[in-house]
Amino acid sequence: MKEEISIRDRMYLEMRDKKFFEKVQSYAYEYLQNVFERNVYPTEEALNNLKHFEENLPDDPSNAYEVIELLNKYGAPATVTHVGGRYFGFVNGSVVPAGLAAKSLASYWDQNTAMQVISPVSSKLETVVEKWLTQLFDLSAGTVAGFVSGTSSATFCGLAAARYRLLKRLDWDVNEKGLFNAPKIRIVTSRHAHSTVLKAIGLLGFGKDNIEWVDVDDQGRIIPELVPGLDERTIVVLQAGNVNSGSFDPFEEICEKANAANAWVHIDGAFGLWAGAVDKLKHLTRGIEKANSWAVDGHKTLNTPYDCGIVMCEDKEAIVSALHMTGGYIILSEERDGMFYTPEMSRRARIIELWATMKYLGKKGIEQMVYGLHQRAIQFAEEITKAKGFEVLNDIVFNQVMVSCETDELTERAIKRIQDLRECWVGGSNWNGRKIIRVSVCSWATTPEDITRSVNSFKQALDDINKE
Ligand SMILES: *Cc1c(COP(=O)(O)O)cnc(C)c1O
Repeated sequence: MKEEISIRDRMYLEMRDKKFFEKVQSYAYEYLQNVFERNVYPTEEALNNLKHFEENLPDDPSNAYEVIELLNKYGAPATVTHVGGRYFGFVNGSVVPAGLAAKSLASYWDQNTAMQVISPVSSKLETVVEKWLTQLFDLSAGTVAGFVSGTSSATFCGLAAARYRLLKRLDWDVNEKGLFNAPKIRIVTSRHAHSTVLKAIGLLGFGKDNIEWVDVDDQGRIIPELVPGLDERTIVVLQAGNVNSGSFDPFEEICEKANAANAWVHIDGAFGLWAGAVDKLKHLTRGIEKANSWAVDGHKTLNTPYDCGIVMCEDKEAIVSALHMTGGYIILSEERDGMFYTPEMSRRARIIELWATMKYLGKKGIEQMVYGLHQRAIQFAEEITKAKGFEVLNDIVFNQVMVSCETDELTERAIKRIQDLRECWVGGSNWNGRKIIRVSVCSWATTPEDITRSVNSFKQALDDINKE
């Protein structure tokens, strides 16, 4: 038998092997059964076992069952339990069941959402969700959305649209003429801009050395009085949700100045923009509708599966021209062709799980879930403040809590010990030259008991260190 024929025949059978796919589902199901109780971080043994994946590319095909079994045996134990309620690292969300299931189902469909003709269902859902998001955040009708891998990519797209628009107004088509000899574009942003904003600025050829930095207050908010004079050559990048303190820049005042000057405002709202969907937190995002582009993640606060980011832009022609690179604005079909709003052509249909998550939660579910994160963050801050040896450094306006011990050395040792205890997981960061433990409450699954358990683990860690 010829090799090519045999592999095709095998796959043809496997594709319809109910037992095989049921086996896969059963592993997934098992994983979910104890996802709230398993170690938040893999054990040393599980990490060590990853060595079983080290091999040269096999000469011969494997059995499909064996492939999946290997993954389940050594892969699953080495996962970090973002899905559970006691992972507080970086800003990483869990996953809403309907979104997870939709992703699982849609992965069997294997849709490419480049063009409507390639995947009508994805195109339709992108159109629907674009409208939902525009309304949820009170953005102007006609705002468009691109569905990308995360906020890094979304900010890159927003700033590319800004670059196109500002230069175009100065009679310079950046797609055709490039940046050499172009009129100079100014970039104004805060000292606390996220590293991915700086990355986009670098990638787009603005140069980090050219940034006009603006100082921040004690919570990490840009100080509006220090924003320099703006003009039609300026891009201002603001932030909804400081990655450490969770604070929000004062949008209204700065956006108004920018609008009057014909400058462009982009908002990095990776996790914080969702505050705008909550009545009791909406004051934090006041004025965002006056910006020109926005970046936000599904995979953080909204708890969609990874990878799910969204760029929104009120200037459809600018974003399409910037990303489509034809120099003009061309419509291929009457319906939505997703690739006009993203850097990629082929993309997986992440819109399916984003749609499912929003459809499932509805406005009230989103509100309740996001407000719940805020409440748990407040609870954490209250309980840890009562514990001896810990101090909370920020106002808990959203879901982030910054905790420090008496010295940097103690803070670093506490982080290590908390991580080793594996009851919860937190990482470190820096704040005004001081080491901090960053606690990000970003999982819908976090219960009040999870918070208390985690605070107890913090206390245990300091006790252990004091006994050493
Ligand atoms: C996480 C984050 C980003 C980057 O988003 P990705 O989805 O990881 O690309 C940008 N800005 C802020 C404030 C963030 O928290």
